[in-house]
Amino acid sequence: MKFIGAHVSAAGGVDKAPMNAAEIGANAFAVFTKNQRQWQAKPLEASTVAVFKAKCQALGFVPEAILPHDSYLINLGAPEEDKLIKSRDAFIDEMERCQTLGLPLLNFHPGSHLKKISEEACLSLIAESINLAHDAVPNVVAVIENTAGQGTNMGWSFEQLASIISQVSDKSRVGVCIDTCHAFAAGYDLRTHSAAEATFAEFDHLVGFDYLRAMHLNDSKTPLGGRVDRHQALGDGEIGLPCFEVIMQDQRFNGIPLILETIKPERWADEIRLLRQFEAAATAPVAM
Ligand SMILES: [Zn+2]
Ligand SMILES: [Zn+2]
Repeated sequence: MKFIGAHVSAAGGVDKAPMNAAEIGANAFAVFTKNQRQWQAKPLEASTVAVFKAKCQALGFVPEAILPHDSYLINLGAPEEDKLIKSRDAFIDEMERCQTLGLPLLNFHPGSHLKKISEEACLSLIAESINLAHDAVPNVVAVIENTAGQGTNMGWSFEQLASIISQVSDKSRVGVCIDTCHAFAAGYDLRTHSAAEATFAEFDHLVGFDYLRAMHLNDSKTPLGGRVDRHQALGDGEIGLPCFEVIMQDQRFNGIPLILETIKPERWADEIRLLRQFEAAATAPVAM
């Protein structure tokens, strides 16, 4: 069973997101549980939480198919102590919001060294931040997203993701979200069936599919290894469609949120239909 959706709007409250996802034919979605460009947010109201849970149940969204995304301001590898403390506090608040909503996953960008500390030191700070969040909030899984490697963003290589995981104490509550656009921009070829399969084999070897808790399905405006994060609609970018056929036909991507962050929301319903066709093609009986 594939959980497919998009990062939908939560304008007017997080409880509005399930209907936005249902309208595009999704059975999964990603969402910000607070304004992603602000540090502070008022706590979730009990009525909002109740409506959110009721809508998810009524519309058929199971908690493991929902992927909250944290604020863009948070840097869990921040070299300066005041920024690090502020980021860790905000991240714990994000985890608590997930817990309150009954959601098991929190997707986040690992962090940036800002040329002030080494890459290794930054990766260790990120792992320590995850450990602190685990201590503060039970149950929620920290889902590290791979990055395009833009600027000083860490987590663009599978080795870096593995390094963070190796330093996390509770391995049952750490995972990764692979964004196809970011992986491609970071230098992992996905342009053909065989290239995509080779990239996923390398991921399995260095990180392991056991840690794969979500995917972001995006085509890329940036060429291979361009190190710039620019999403594109599926099939319109440098990656092309074969990679998404591979994902939809591989059982290792079952049971986790597969989330579109493509640039044309008006095409999300069509993109989901296309992905469902790829999935159906894998299970269709071979014509005699
Ligand atoms: Zn992403
Ligand atoms: Zn991106």
